[in-house]
Amino acid sequence: MMKKKLAVYIHIPFCVKKCAYCDFNSAKPKNGQIDLYVSSLKNEIISMVPSLMKMSDHSVDTVYIGGGTPSMIDAHFIEDVLAILKEAFEKETAGSYKPSEITIECNPGTVFDKEDNFVIYRRAGINRLSLGLQSANEEELAILGRIHTREDWKRSVKLARYAGFDNINTDLISGIPGQTWEDFKRSLDTVITTGVEHISVYSLMIEEGTPLYERYKPESLTEEERDRLNENDRLIYDNTGNVLKMAGYERYEISNYAKPGYECRHNIVYWKRGDYIGFGLGAASLIGNIRFKNTDSLSEYMRMYDGSCPDDKSFSDKLCASVPEFMLKGKNEVECIDKNGQMAEYAFLGLRMTEGISEEGFRNEFGISIDDIYADVIKRYVNMGMLIRKDGMIRLSKEGFNVSNRIMADFL
Ligand code: SF4
Repeated sequence: MMKKKLAVYIHIPFCVKKCAYCDFNSAKPKNGQIDLYVSSLKNEIISMVPSLMKMSDHSVDTVYIGGGTPSMIDAHFIEDVLAILKEAFEKETAGSYKPSEITIECNPGTVFDKEDNFVIYRRAGINRLSLGLQSANEEELAILGRIHTREDWKRSVKLARYAGFDNINTDLISGIPGQTWEDFKRSLDTVITTGVEHISVYSLMIEEGTPLYERYKPESLTEEERDRLNENDRLIYDNTGNVLKMAGYERYEISNYAKPGYECRHNIVYWKRGDYIGFGLGAASLIGNIRFKNTDSLSEYMRMYDGSCPDDKSFSDKLCASVPEFMLKGKNEVECIDKNGQMAEYAFLGLRMTEGISEEGFRNEFGISIDDIYADVIKRYVNMGMLIRKDGMIRLSKEGFNVSNRIMADFL
């Protein structure tokens, strides 16, 4: 029988310093915390994998090490964790660990002078890097509170290339206060010039509770200022697609662009609603119809996997009566998704991708036609020119991408 492909996410929740816009669950580590965390992570992997493999015959196809800042911890720790992961899967079933893509997120401020890190990453099997630049403009980097400069990023790309990395992503942020299209284009040009294979562009979200929110309170904007910002956002979004296309990058998802063949396999699993398992603080998993998420408390997570804390959490939701025990251990959310929920997720996640939803894929997955559920909404948006239905695929049109949130919400 064909093994089911599995995406593995590994979370490292530590950062050198908190960025001004960040509301992720990450923090500067206290003394000794990194060692303890890595040991908990390894214990979690060792305890979870056998149960997972008993439930379903999976084969690891992608691994993504994200954060936080995975590159701020000793590269040997990363090597160790990957070795444990491989051993845990292979011990259960030979051939169940054959990742075609292993990515690690790196903050340029932590690696620009550490050639060895890249060498160790390569030795550990990592073949894709995500080097977050966010902006090539020093003033914008200061607004964001990043710990690196544009030069740090350039040096990091160079060192990574020397070490043999031929698949590099760079993140950029648009919509930084005061940023014009011309400002953003300069960042884009800087990135294009280095020839990285993949570029992600995210709009800045000014989240409550962050220093950036205190400084630029979005609610204090007038309606006119808000309209201007939205207009600027749309201009940047449209122009970015055009500039990157000319440079050889195709948009394949709302925020992601790649040279042919360099699309991120790991993220595609999320958008196609494949199975994934997350290890580490707050990491989320989806196996079949069950979604579960690790605790967000660092102390609880570490106690859980150093063996000193019995898991006394009980989930009363009747729907979860059939959830295997290992999916409950150390979790703060467990959800069984019914068929309607699965179909809705399949549709709205699939629409994030420019290729859209495959009608045949939907039928294979759920045993019914997509029209049995969504005929009305599909017809409405096709008539409005927001959706395109062609060759067995349903996808957003250019106009549809501009109002994608509204359209996707209608599939929920
Ligand atoms: S590096 Fe990333 S995770 Fe860390 S504080 Fe900055 S934005 Fe947050």
